[in-house]
Order: sequence, then structure tokens, then C-alpha cells
Amino acid sequence: MTILRSYLEGRWMAGEGKPRTIEDATTGSAFATVASDGLDRGAALRYARDVGGPALRAMTFAERGAILKKLAEEIHTHRDELLILSRQGGTTRGDGKFDVDGAAGTISYYAYLGKKLGDVVVLADGEPENVLRSKRFVGQHLLVPRRGVAIHINAFNFPAWGMAEKAAVAILAGVPVISKPGTATAPLAVRIVELWVESGALPEGAFSLLAGSAGDLLDHVGPQDCVAFTGSSGTGLAIRSHAQVLATGARVNVEADSLNASVLAPDVELDSDTFGMFLGDVARDMTQKAGQKCTAVRRIVVPADKVDGVAEALIDRISGAIVGDPAQRGITVGPVASRAQKRDVEAGCSQLAETANLVWRGEAPEGDGFFVAPALYLTDAGVEAAYVHEHEVFGPVATLVTYDGSSDEAIAIVAAGGGGLVASVYTDDAAWGGQVMLGIAPWSGRIYWGSRKVADQGSGPGTVLPNFVHGGPGKAGGGEELGGERGLRFYQQRVAVQADRALLKRSLEGLL
Ligand code: NAP
Repeated sequence: MTILRSYLEGRWMAGEGKPRTIEDATTGSAFATVASDGLDRGAALRYARDVGGPALRAMTFAERGAILKKLAEEIHTHRDELLILSRQGGTTRGDGKFDVDGAAGTISYYAYLGKKLGDVVVLADGEPENVLRSKRFVGQHLLVPRRGVAIHINAFNFPAWGMAEKAAVAILAGVPVISKPGTATAPLAVRIVELWVESGALPEGAFSLLAGSAGDLLDHVGPQDCVAFTGSSGTGLAIRSHAQVLATGARVNVEADSLNASVLAPDVELDSDTFGMFLGDVARDMTQKAGQKCTAVRRIVVPADKVDGVAEALIDRISGAIVGDPAQRGITVGPVASRAQKRDVEAGCSQLAETANLVWRGEAPEGDGFFVAPALYLTDAGVEAAYVHEHEVFGPVATLVTYDGSSDEAIAIVAAGGGGLVASVYTDDAAWGGQVMLGIAPWSGRIYWGSRKVADQGSGPGTVLPNFVHGGPGKAGGGEELGGERGLRFYQQRVAVQADRALLKRSLEGLL
């Protein structure tokens, strides 16, 4: 059995203590173990700060981009091996590609951005502005890499992409990384790091991996560190309220639970292309990665007079999904990633059933694997359907929520989720769509507007692209990642420098 090791202080090391068993999601059998007592997390952070930080900061954006290019190539070269390994967490080949190719694609995007930013080490934010009335004495905002470590604590659902999307941005910004994968699917993340280390592409100390528990990692956080977390709101709260994090003022970014809504407008006929787009997107989100996507549609907001037709069409579509062993041909939905996850989904469904009616449930194999039957619920309680708006059931499960067709009620239902990563709206009515778009904007990190003329062009609301921001207000954690160059800001210090225009210009020659 594989024993997962950590890569800290520039070497691979195994932890001590009682090991945690990582199971194969399809069979429920032990796949790997990981122990993480005794690992000196404080020393690991110091090493990253003292060795990795200076190495990365000595490079230009273009040079750091070139490192990222090699990291993406490593994933690409070993794609087949990684796709097979990703089955441990229950993914079908298609789901595995979404994770592994998504990782390589996102790193490549940031590699390209590094090349575009070029041979500079400092970025300007805006143009110099006069200080009071003086034309000589000016102020200029600059962006410089922080001198800490990017501490990345990731969720289990995207072991490749989750690690890669955070790492790419931090490394391009010039900040060394310590990445802690979600333990349930850590084998894939560990293998990718092995490939990265073997490739020799990374400067010493630029990337570390902590396999297993976070332990006392946050007790060693310093004032220049940046903690980026993805996972449940409960853990997000524990991280942001951690005494050392609060005492040092370390930066924190949280991506947490999100009850993403998809709104069908009253103008959309059920035989239209716009409806076809809506149906395809909702069905994909319910079944892809067995519904374990932070961006998946959980609440399907539909005009009351259309709900019967929508439910019929949706059930017809998702009935084609076959749950089973992801290694077998024809299987479109794998198991959820872990025993705990299966338990959570089943408990969530029981709670949902108290608020909403079960209108359809698919089939799932019996056995030791973590299979969950997809399910569709329906409520006409609108904003009052409390549990539907409060709890994210992280599996192949969604709820139809009826509304009266007004933009006001659609907005209120989306807002009842308390803030989400992405909301989608499907309409060809510019006025109605515009009202809803602006009404839900304060509650959303991203809005995906589906309509007839783009019906065959979108990637669906569930796909996170590196050039658009990923994150959301309120319940979704209040964080923001990616978004092209915007993502770098979390790892940079913005400083306003007020100085003699000529002196300042000369001091920055060759750097900016
Ligand atoms: P989680 O239990 O919050 O774990 C997330 C990460 O935090 C894991 O790496 C976990 O380590 C680590 N962790 C747990 N307790 C910690 C602590 N006290 N200090 C520091 N790190 C800690 O979330 P999950 O199990 O991955 O997912 C559970 C739920 O999160 C899902 O059901 C879903 O609702 C939500 N989720 C949201 C997103 C999003 O992007 N919005 C993505 C995925 C999941 P271990 O794995 O070792 O426990």
C-alpha cells in the first residue's frame, strides 16, 4: 500500500503517529495511508520563506512563467497515468480530464501571462499622480511580492486543479507555496508534486507539499503569509478566526460552500435553443464529478407555470446518467470521493426531504463503494424553503424552486442563498435579464447568462476559467481567486510611493 509522504524543506519525508487510511471510492478498500505527526511545519514555513521566496523574487515574471510552462508540461506528459490515478477518488475518465486538463490549462494560462508581463519584477498600478499641486512630487502605486509563504489548504474535490490553480498564481506573483491537499483524494496531488520535483523545474524551496493533517501549520503563520483555503464554511471560519492568523494580520482568502442558482426566465419556451442550453447545463452540473463541484447548480429556479414541463425534460435527461464503477465503459457518474462524503450527502438528502418533495431518484449500485443515487427535489416555498437555501448537499442532487416569473422574486430567491460562486440566468429578454443580472450581482462572484445566440458556445456555469474571477461573497467565503492578473494581487503588496518624479523613475529603471 502506498504511504503518502510530504515534501518539506526540500526533501520527501513521512510523518509519524497513527496513519489515516485513504480509501478507493469505488471499492471502499484501503488505497493509501498518510501520517503527519512529527512534521515540523514551522521549519517548513521558514524554509519556504527564507529559501524559496528569495529564489522566486530574483526572477522576472517571464522567468516564473517559464517555470509554470514546465509544470504544465509535466502534467500533460503524464496525463494518462494521472487520469488512472484520479479514479481513486471516484472520477470517470471525463471527470478526471476536467480536473487534470483543467490543472494543466490553468497553469499554462498563467505561464502565458508571465510571458506577457515580461522581464520585470515590479508592477505599476496606474500612472503617477501629483501630490497636492506639485508636478514634481508624485505618488505612484506599485505592486511587489509579499515576503511570506502562500499557504494553500485545498478541498478533496479537485486534487489536481485545486492545487494547480492556486499554485500557478502564487508562483507567478513570486511567492513560495506550501500546499495541503484534501486528504480523501491526496494521492493524485502527491503524484503531481513528485513529477514537478523530479522535473527540476522548481527553484529550491519554491513549492512544498504537506500531506495529511494541517496540524499546527497555522500556529506558525507570519505577517507576510497568505492563506488561501477551499472547503467547508465551518473550516473556513476556523481558519479566518485562528488566533495567530488574527494576531499577525496574515491575509486570508476563503472559498466555501455555495448554493449556486440557475434561473429560467418566463420568456423561455421549452422547445427553444435557450431552454436546451439551460437543460444541458443543469443536467451536466448535477452529474459531472458526481455533483462534487463547488460551482454546480444546486437551486433550479423555474416559473411555476413551467415547472412540470421543466421537471419532465430534466428527469428525462438525467435518467440517462449511469452510476457505477468509473473504470467501466458507459458509466457516466462515479461514486462520491469518500465514505464521509457519502454519509454527508445522504444526511443532506434526508434534510432536504423535510423541506422539499423528492420528484425523482436514480439508481446507484449497492456494495462497498461510495455510490450515491442522483436525486431531484421540488419546492414551491420560494425564499421560505430554508434548508434549500442554507445547506449545500455536495453530491448529484439539486432542487427545483418555483417562482412567479417576476424579476424581483427571481432575485430574492438567488439572494436567499446568502452569496454564491456563480449564478446563471437563461433568457433572450434583455430588459428582464439585465434587471436580474444587476439584482443578483452583489450576491455573486460570476454570472453566466445563457441565451439563444450563444446556446452552443458556452462551457456551462460550472466551468471555472482562469481569466475570470472565481469566488463569491457571503456564504461562498467572500474570497476571490484567478481572474487573470487580478489573482496576483492577493500575493502582492500594493504600496503608494510618494517621491520626486525623476528620482522615482530612475530608481525603477529595469524593474518595472
Ligand atoms: P473541509 O472539511 O473544510 O476540508 C477542506 C480542507 O481543509 C482539507 O484539506 C482539510 O484537511 C482541511 N482542514 C480541515 N480542518 C482544518 C483545520 N482545522 N485547519 C486547517 N485545515 C483544515 O472540506 P471538504 O471535506 O474538502 O469539503 C466539505 C464541504 O466543503 C463540501 O461538502 C462542500 O460543501 C464544501 N466545498 C466547497 C468548495 C468551494 O470551492 N466552494 C469546494 C469543495 C468543497 P483534511 O482533508 O485532511 O481533513
